Amino acid sequence: MGQRIVIIGAGIIGAAVALRLTQAGHDVTVIEAGAPGGGATGRSFGWINASFHQDAAHFALRAEGMAAWRRLDLPGVSWPGCLWFEEQGDAFASVHKHLTSLGYPVEVLESDAIARAEPALAAPPARALRFPGEGVAEAALVAQDLLARATALGARLWSGIAVRGIADRAGRVGGVLTDAGAIAADTVLVCAGTGTPGLVGPLGVKLPMLDRPGLLLTTQALPPLLGHIVVAPGQEVRQLPDGRLLAPTSPNHQGDAAETLADTAETLAEAARARVAALIGRDIRLTGITLAHRPVPGDGLPVVGPSGPDGLYLAVMHSGVTLAAIMAELIAAELTNGGPQALLAPYRPARFA
Ligand SMILES: Cc1cc2nc3c(=O)[nH]c(=O)nc-3n(C[C@H](O)[C@H](O)[C@H](O)COP(=O)(O)OP(=O)(O)OC[C@H]3O[C@@H](n4cnc5c(N)ncnc54)[C@H](O)[C@@H]3O)c2cc1C
Repeated sequence: MGQRIVIIGAGIIGAAVALRLTQAGHDVTVIEAGAPGGGATGRSFGWINASFHQDAAHFALRAEGMAAWRRLDLPGVSWPGCLWFEEQGDAFASVHKHLTSLGYPVEVLESDAIARAEPALAAPPARALRFPGEGVAEAALVAQDLLARATALGARLWSGIAVRGIADRAGRVGGVLTDAGAIAADTVLVCAGTGTPGLVGPLGVKLPMLDRPGLLLTTQALPPLLGHIVVAPGQEVRQLPDGRLLAPTSPNHQGDAAETLADTAETLAEAARARVAALIGRDIRLTGITLAHRPVPGDGLPVVGPSGPDGLYLAVMHSGVTLAAIMAELIAAELTNGGPQALLAPYRPARFA
């Protein structure tokens, strides 16, 4: 007999975990204050990779994250690979050496091969690295798809309903209090992104978070131009399935450490638009700007596991698009008598206690 599990938050993390927990036989209710996929998930670049990582354990987790998405095999996830030429010279050689030493699939392309791989580039660089295993998720759609699969198997989704508090009865969670009444639960899984500290703070759980605003721009729909996720000096860009280009306004956006935007959204987006236009040698129009605060725990790494009263479990992280599928597998295993999962050991909430 499964547990009664309430998941707070229907972003990509809550959605992926909801499916795995429902498949494992639990009685799952997902409660979302806004719309599913409407948080950071819906304003994400959506790049699934392990080329960006903080240390060896983080690399291993992200590599497993890529493998877990392949196991899930969802229509909103695709594997175009990444073409990286952010640096040349020594920095290029050092990235190549480092990723090769980790066993990461990497190919070196010279300018002729780059021009064949991405004919739209106005000036192919001398060399680029290709990471053929990297992918993208259209993250809001994937979150909605995961929830549709979970609800088809018996999960319930409440949206437009905010959780106001988590009930703590003598050191054990009893459920949640929402705008629309209380729900009893054996386990409360908090996947509320930047909303997590406000929910768990009253239970004595310390969760420092960094403020990391992230701005993306979209352009008008264009004919097929870019096959890969392209990482050029100072600018990342990819093409969405509907033809629009999607680009962060800051370079190396996954490692962006700025606490505030450096300028107005319009100025930053216009500058990024001009960089993308120069990259592909054609005029493009800015059609949209999105701003979201990335859910980044204090040391930049995921926070996953039990904390505070018995039955409380946290899952909050940046690079949640890369990590959602593997997190879902590991969390479902931990909540279904699988015991502590080794891949999660570096990421326990207790490190902030
Ligand atoms: C600009 C930008 C670019 C990014 N690019 C990448 C990338 O390329 N690759 C990558 O892997 N990651 C990327 N990320 C990070 C990634 O998008 C996030 O890590 C991921 O979306 C987090 O998912 P989540 O489900 O934890 O949070 P969210 O998607 O924020 O979902 C949390 C949900 O909880 C709900 N909620 C909060 N409080 C409550 C409450 N009290 N009651 C009910 N519901 C509540 C919110 O409404 C929200 O829908 C990027 C993020 C940004 C902003």
